[in-house]
Amino acid sequence: MEHLSPEQLRELKELLLRRRAEVLKRLESFLSDPTLKASGEIGDEVDSADLEMARLTKIRLRERETVYLKKVEYALRKMEEGTYGICENCGRPIAYERLKARPVAVYCIECKTKLEAEGEE
Ligand SMILES: [Zn+2]
Repeated sequence: MEHLSPEQLRELKELLLRRRAEVLKRLESFLSDPTLKASGEIGDEVDSADLEMARLTKIRLRERETVYLKKVEYALRKMEEGTYGICENCGRPIAYERLKARPVAVYCIECKTKLEAEGEE
């Protein structure tokens, strides 16, 4: 992480902590969402096909948030371990500008582009 100054690291950490708080808040709102309870529990005054669609959309959203939360926590752990900001594919430092835009990034832009072309991540 030598390519990142202590100020930059602090900034990125704050960014990650803020993202984590946001995701947790959104996940919490899903918990209290009645449409996410098992179908059949809600009265049949609502069209069940529409309801099912809305439910599936929310479930997908929730899954995406959960995956993102894991990435944020992973990034924070790497920060603790001192391996944050190093590309997991080529071992080169990831540019600060890229981390600022996407603090959970684990690949440098070159590897990310290459891996995307191969259909990963
Ligand atoms: Zn790389």
